[in-house]
Amino acid sequence: MSSNLNLLSHHWQEIQKHASQGYPREICGLIAGNQGTSRYVFPIINTSMQTDRFFMDPRELLAALEAIENNAWEIEGIYHSHPHGPEYPSHADLNEHLYPTVKMCILYPIGDPAIPHHWNIRSYQISGERFTVVPVRIKTDEGE
Ligand SMILES: [Zn+2]
Repeated sequence: MSSNLNLLSHHWQEIQKHASQGYPREICGLIAGNQGTSRYVFPIINTSMQTDRFFMDPRELLAALEAIENNAWEIEGIYHSHPHGPEYPSHADLNEHLYPTVKMCILYPIGDPAIPHHWNIRSYQISGERFTVVPVRIKTDEGE
């Protein structure tokens, strides 16, 4: 099992675009792939009424999980944005993390949140109330 999260460049751009378009609301989705490398990104509708929380639309989540299974992918990461920071998980994030073995990815603005490449990403391995940073590598799409 790879300890890094390898994001293909075009997947990373897709997630950044999602975060900037969703601003000032939190956005969320799944990163599917194999052996730590992204193969597909599933943006999922955030149905939470709170501005600082996310809840994945159950139908979209189910459809994504089915597609992931059908393609023999795994969930490499569950991402959501923190439109006003911080870059680390909130208590609610830790309590509500669905799959302990899956990395939690948090997007946060490092400039103008309306501009996609002004978003950064951090990835975490969650264990109860504790979290450790997992390096995210953005990979060129060559050799995909
Ligand atoms: Zn959060």
